[in-house]
Amino acid sequence: MTAHSNIYPTKALQELDAAHHWHPFSDMKSLNAEGSRVITSADGVWLTDSNGNKILDGMAGLWCVQVGHGRSEITEAVTKQMNELAYYNTFFKTTHPPAIALSEKLAKLAPDHINTVFYCSSGSEANDTVFRMVRTYWDKMGKRDKKVIIGRWNGYHGSTLAGTSLGGMKAMHAQGDLPVSGVHHIDQPYWFGEGQDMSPENFGVHVARKLEEAIDQIGEDKVAAFIAEPIQGAGGVIIPPETYWPEVKRILEERDILFVSDEVICGFGRLGEWFGSSYYGVKPDLMPIAKGLTSGYLPMGGVLVSDRVVEGLMLAGDDFNHGYTYSGHPVCAAAALANLEIIERDGLVDRVKTDIGPYLKERWLKLGEHELVGEARMTGLVGALELVPDKKNPTKKFSDVGVPGTLCRDVSFEHGMVMRAVRDSMIISPPLVLSHEEADHLVATAEKTLNDTYRILK
Ligand code: PLP
Repeated sequence: MTAHSNIYPTKALQELDAAHHWHPFSDMKSLNAEGSRVITSADGVWLTDSNGNKILDGMAGLWCVQVGHGRSEITEAVTKQMNELAYYNTFFKTTHPPAIALSEKLAKLAPDHINTVFYCSSGSEANDTVFRMVRTYWDKMGKRDKKVIIGRWNGYHGSTLAGTSLGGMKAMHAQGDLPVSGVHHIDQPYWFGEGQDMSPENFGVHVARKLEEAIDQIGEDKVAAFIAEPIQGAGGVIIPPETYWPEVKRILEERDILFVSDEVICGFGRLGEWFGSSYYGVKPDLMPIAKGLTSGYLPMGGVLVSDRVVEGLMLAGDDFNHGYTYSGHPVCAAAALANLEIIERDGLVDRVKTDIGPYLKERWLKLGEHELVGEARMTGLVGALELVPDKKNPTKKFSDVGVPGTLCRDVSFEHGMVMRAVRDSMIISPPLVLSHEEADHLVATAEKTLNDTYRILK
């Protein structure tokens, strides 16, 4: 049996999937017992499953479908490029028009001091590139001891060796004996989860200074870089207190280390600016990108590299011995260009800042009044609800951490909406094209989901 068409019943598709398909980050035993959800088509912010149900895609796929599903402009650009030049590499002094045009476009969108891009196929590969790039930079600058990269606990930078190591997910470190040597983790700016004994303002400064303390402890002459997501996505949409990034900025300006702003989720309009670091007013030396670059229509990632780092890498006459078969893939580049043109033409970044972002936030924050919710937070079009067992005692966690979140996620799906659960935080990150009506529907469905989850948990 081939499962390409939709003529097979859901159960048959699920059985075939269970027999041969190992899913990412999944408990395969329970997945196989329950059967996967089979998504067969999508349009705008709506998914359709194999039973014909319409589901609101509250996660924009996996934080990536900025322009919504089913945009024919992207399909047409991809088809045209496939017909013209489906593949050629960018090694050995060759290039092609889509890679050239995309690089020019990204240089225009990036902050003024960033004018160069190195391509790969995913966010994880982008961070592997970062790992080698920062160490090579300092080697070429003659500072060969500067090797340590500082990341944060509960940060996420992908699941390759370098990505897992730079990230601070302990469950990931436990598999494969990671992190690799030369990575140091500091605390995250997670006020609700770890800082409620202080005001958010004091906690923001306190936890930012962990960076300064780590640099002092390791020695500035040994620290190569600090990597962070402007807002931690996969860690649970950790929106830092307002005092956090200004204090980190002060520290970065005083210390001779590189700053890597992981823009894989926050880039391309998610926070209402082209890049999350611009939203927070911090100046990155390197920006890993992926996801929203193509709105997920094709896999593509990259690292936006500042002039300072480019100049350093060109010292000593050596190449940067790094690259991928698909670096700058012409069809992916064509998809990215068409996607960025839609984002620009439809003013989606500004829409997040001035229209749909504030509209959804106002309504989303009201869910914070629900009996099951300890905190509701949102910036741009990314938000979270912290589920708590006792609203009057918001530091108290569920005894079976993660179980209520998973339940709430499943209830949401039954009500026709994708919300993701990270521990007991419910996460949304919808497409940037979400209409006001769809935003109302999203909030109403979230409320219904909270009511039902609360009833079941009681
Ligand atoms: N960096 C961040 C901030 C991410 O959120 C992700 C994925 O969610 C990655 C890197 C890894 O990207 P990919 O899954 O494309 O390898």
